[in-house]
Amino acid sequence: MGKEYSHIETKLIHAGEPEPLISGAVSMPIFQSSTFEYSGQGSYHDLKYIRLNNTPNHIALHQKLAALENAEAAVVTSSGMAAISTTLLSFLSPGDHFLAQECLYGGTHELIAKDLSAIGISFDFIDGDAPDTWESKLRSNTKAIYVETMTNPLLQIADLKAVVEFAGSHKLISMIDNTFTSPINFRPSELGFDLSLHSCTKYLNGHSDIVAGAVIGRENLIERITHKLNHLGGSLDPHACFLLHRGMKTLAVRMKHQNESALKIAGFLESHQAIDKINYPGLESHPRHRRAADLFDGFSGMLSFEVKGGVEAAERFIRNTTLPIVAPSLGGVESLITRPVTTSHSGLSKKDLQILGISDSLIRVSIGIEATEDLIEDFDQALIK
Ligand code: PLP
Repeated sequence: MGKEYSHIETKLIHAGEPEPLISGAVSMPIFQSSTFEYSGQGSYHDLKYIRLNNTPNHIALHQKLAALENAEAAVVTSSGMAAISTTLLSFLSPGDHFLAQECLYGGTHELIAKDLSAIGISFDFIDGDAPDTWESKLRSNTKAIYVETMTNPLLQIADLKAVVEFAGSHKLISMIDNTFTSPINFRPSELGFDLSLHSCTKYLNGHSDIVAGAVIGRENLIERITHKLNHLGGSLDPHACFLLHRGMKTLAVRMKHQNESALKIAGFLESHQAIDKINYPGLESHPRHRRAADLFDGFSGMLSFEVKGGVEAAERFIRNTTLPIVAPSLGGVESLITRPVTTSHSGLSKKDLQILGISDSLIRVSIGIEATEDLIEDFDQALIK
């Protein structure tokens, strides 16, 4: 590790950068070489090769990401799902069991319920808000507990302190998907989480132009994940590493704007007569606002809501907006709008959606960095049309 910096804004720019700069280059050059000269490495995992996640582009990112969350180590992956699947497969084998929060990103939900269970890794879904119900789900083969910082798309906040304590007292590996909050708003290792996972496709990169992932946390666990990743092959290409590295440098300025903008927009929507219900943890009316305010430095740019009039009214509203692009995904500089049942959560059965409380008419918005006033004006005209 190079120099230490105390503020996250400075870490984004300087942590993990090569010292001295490579040929004086201010921006990290792209090392587009699949293989590197052998220099006496004793272990397979130390050979320099893109799939082994150890080119200069990977190393700089690993150091920067670990510094951002005040964690020991990090590894980047080819997508958020590669980070999640590789992490779960690193610590769970057929015959093992784990606990997972019931409302998760649709892809993670599917991975757990279909793919992992098909190979004999069993699970129980838990209510993240009811720690007293977790112990009854424990088995002698329970190895891990998996939650999200803010659930997608309902923006619920689990009792994250209780998750860490529960994992500690039952020797479980605690894993949290920190995509929605980003290291600006929350750094899981500070609370005691073992592993923090990201879809870097979202806020960390911030420009909707790559797919990437990361796992950040305890060094011995990251080493095991890296070795599994080396075998499964979900490595990030150096050119994508470069784009992620470049995108990350502006994370603090983007995220702060998105935090502020989403809070104002959520306030506007909450007081609008055409809105039935709004989910945003920054609003005092959110059932876990106090918990979110204690845990996080900001409430993110994600919000979801229902307009009065059901699916038809929701579709009309989406059609009437002119600024947000109708698309899945989130965390980019441009605002995106979607109905999760048609995109991020379309793989879930009607029954599962009902259990989770995700209605057909729920609208999810990822607030970008456009002027807040322009977005409010656009939502206002779309609601009264
Ligand atoms: N985690 C969360 C919270 C997500 O929203 C997503 C994708 O939307 C993922 C993980 C998966 O990330 P990726 O699309 O980069 O594989």
